[in-house]
Amino acid sequence: MSKPLQNRIALVTGASSGLGRHFAITLAKAGAKVAVAARRVDKLDDLVAEIATFDGHALPIALDVTDPASVTEAVRVAETELGAIGILVNNAGIVQAKPALEIDEADWEYVIGTNLTGAWRVAREVARHMVRMGHGGSIINMASILGEGVTKQLSTYAISKAGVVQMTRALALELAKDNIRVNAMAPGYIATELNQEYFETDIGKALINKIPQRRLGQPEDLDGTLMLLAGDGSAFMTGSVITVDGGHTLAIA
Ligand code: NAD
Repeated sequence: MSKPLQNRIALVTGASSGLGRHFAITLAKAGAKVAVAARRVDKLDDLVAEIATFDGHALPIALDVTDPASVTEAVRVAETELGAIGILVNNAGIVQAKPALEIDEADWEYVIGTNLTGAWRVAREVARHMVRMGHGGSIINMASILGEGVTKQLSTYAISKAGVVQMTRALALELAKDNIRVNAMAPGYIATELNQEYFETDIGKALINKIPQRRLGQPEDLDGTLMLLAGDGSAFMTGSVITVDGGHTLAIA
C-alpha cells in the first residue's frame, strides 16, 4: 500500500527526544526516509532501531544548530546519503526560565542563538539546497503559543518564538517562487519528558485546568498538522502559523 510520504526525504532537528523524536517516527511511518539529527549521535540509536521495527528508514546525523559548520555538514551528509531533502522539521529548541531582569548576555545568546538563529541557519541551508536542486519542498518551523502571547519568566523563549513566526512569513514570501513552502506550528503545552514533573505539581495542575480542553496536548495531537504541512494537502499554504493548543489562547480571562 502506498504511503502519503513515500520516497520523500525529511530532516528533523532535535530528534533525540520529545517532539522531534515523535515527529521522526510519524514521518517514517508515512513512508519518508528521515535524517534524524541531534548533537549526540549515540542518543539516536534507539530511535533508529525503533524506526527499523516497522521497516522505516532513518539516518542518524550529528547536528548542533548553533554551529554554522555543523549545519552545513549535516545537510550535506543527509543529501549525500538519502537524496534531496523535501521536508524540514525545524524543531530543535530550548527553554530557560528566568526573571527578565536577571537575564544576562549569555542567557540571551543561549536561547535566541538556538531557537531563532539556529532555526534560521538550518532553514537557510536547507532552502539553498532545495533551490539548487530545483524541486521545492516544505519547511515546518516549530513556533509556540508563546510566539504570540507571553508569560512570566520566559521572555527570551517568547521573543525567540515570535522571531520564528516572522521568519516563517519572511521566508515564505521570498521562497514561494522556488516552490518552497514555509509554515509553522504553534503548539500550546504538550506533554513531553521535559515538562512531565512540572505538570504533576499543584501549579502545573492549575495551569492544565485553565486550558479549555482541560488537558495537556500529547505529541500525537500534532500529527495531523505535521502531516498536513509535510504533504501535498498543504500545496497552496505558505506563511501560515497553525495553533494547536486545546483552546489555550482563546480566552481573555
Ligand atoms: P525537548 O527538549 O524534548 O526537545 C528539544 C530537542 O532539541 C532536544 O532533542 C535537544 O537536544 C535539541 N536541541 C537543543 N539545542 C540544540 C542544538 N544546539 N542543536 C541541535 N539540537 C538541539 O523539547 P520539546 O518539547 O520536544 O520541544 C521541541 C520543539 O517544540 C522546541 O522548538 C520547542 O520550543 C517547541 N515547542 C514545545 C512545546 C511543548 O510544550 N513541549 C510547545 C511549543 C513549542
